[in-house]
Amino acid sequence: MYKNKFVVYFKGVRGSHPVAHKDFMKYGGNTACVYVNVNNKRIILDAGSGIVNAGNQIREERILTQDKSRFNTIILLSHLHFDHISGLPFFNYLHNPEANIDIFCKAESNENLKQILSDFLFNQSFPLNIDELKSNITFNSINVSNDNFAIILRDEDTRPVITNLDGAKKAEENDVVITSMYSKMHQKNGVNAYKISYGGKTLVYATDRESYVGGDKLLSSFARDCDLLIHDSQYTECDYNSIANVKQGFGHSSFEMAIKEKENSHAKMLAFFHYDTNYNDEKIDEIKNSIINKTESLIMTEENQKIELL
Ligand SMILES: [Zn+2]
Ligand SMILES: [Zn+2]
Repeated sequence: MYKNKFVVYFKGVRGSHPVAHKDFMKYGGNTACVYVNVNNKRIILDAGSGIVNAGNQIREERILTQDKSRFNTIILLSHLHFDHISGLPFFNYLHNPEANIDIFCKAESNENLKQILSDFLFNQSFPLNIDELKSNITFNSINVSNDNFAIILRDEDTRPVITNLDGAKKAEENDVVITSMYSKMHQKNGVNAYKISYGGKTLVYATDRESYVGGDKLLSSFARDCDLLIHDSQYTECDYNSIANVKQGFGHSSFEMAIKEKENSHAKMLAFFHYDTNYNDEKIDEIKNSIINKTESLIMTEENQKIELL
């Protein structure tokens, strides 16, 4: 179904917490989750409430293609704020004994990552403990002291190969390569951006980050010439600069700050992401009309929107 393809599905584009209201149906109310399928390799960016629908979509795809192979996915967590992990216990494949799930996030150690997710999402908060889940879950901590980290997804391998940037350079033509970049631009413990490369196309996922005046030079280098940049755009410029209702320092960007990152990195397309929960469809349409008509290649992402890079 996805042989030689690079397809991106937005399953949750909201920040902070889910919203369920008729005025939010167009852009959606689920929190951060992007399902990417690259040459039949599944990559899930963040596990906000949108991951529930990602799981349902994947199940339907497997029924449609009569795919009875063992299920594999990797989940890349940008950070451990609740809007990026809250859907995880309700992800259907977490409870499937035929599933291999590799979870990646910055943490002190693999055990530390497991412990944090266990404490947040399972112990007192869910009927099952983390060790009672039926799937085969591997917890992979990403060292934050450097960005010398890479994952290779090979055609013939069912599991991700964890390597470094030198190792990534040896990737073969049909491999999917993932790298990460840590930044302190988000309270309290920073955030990871991820880059997925395949077939000459590149996607960069950079949510929950508050940019600098003139843009973040590290990000513009990391995202240089990418085909699609998914970037935090929680606020309008007006709300971001509000004196009455302070938003500066919250760890999020305005739409204009995201556009600046697109310009600096020469990204071909920019997808706005992680909308403020006070912005209903009418408000986001207003923002869209004021921004997007000025420049092509800007995407006001909607829940379930699909973008094909290949
Ligand atoms: Zn968030
Ligand atoms: Zn956050």
